[in-house]
Amino acid sequence: MKPDLRLKVLEVYAAVDVAVAAEAPRCDASGRCCRFTEYGHTLFLSQFEADLLLETAPAYTQPVSRDFCPFQAEGLCTARDSRPLGCRIYFCDASYQDKQNAITEVAVAKLKVIADEFDTGWNYAPLHVLLNAAERPSVQLSSASRESRIALDVL
Ligand code: SF4
Repeated sequence: MKPDLRLKVLEVYAAVDVAVAAEAPRCDASGRCCRFTEYGHTLFLSQFEADLLLETAPAYTQPVSRDFCPFQAEGLCTARDSRPLGCRIYFCDASYQDKQNAITEVAVAKLKVIADEFDTGWNYAPLHVLLNAAERPSVQLSSASRESRIALDVL
């Protein structure tokens, strides 16, 4: 991903994190939201978000199931820093649903503007579709990610 494009997407993430924090939705830390079929939802994301996620996420095995995220381990996210918008915005707190929809709408609109600006086209699909289409299951693990991957490997 081009550095200037990455910067723009990260700015969208930062704005979303601030907007979500302002709403302070309740999280029960059940991890169910990352087990998609069990929880009854699908995580959609743009190609930008998938590219950014795969820059630092741990390696994973293809084919990826539609049922759960391959980056959840023992109920925790192993790709937290680069997790996509849906993971940043989604909470099961019923009182937050309207705000969640509004934050999502604004953020996705910003990503579409970025797509136009960089003339990339717009690819928006479920997580497993984009992970299965990725040429390599993992790209350039950072040293921190490598260490966490090693920790996972020995568990
Ligand atoms: S990237 Fe992290 S937060 Fe998002 S679905 Fe996967 S494990 Fe859950």
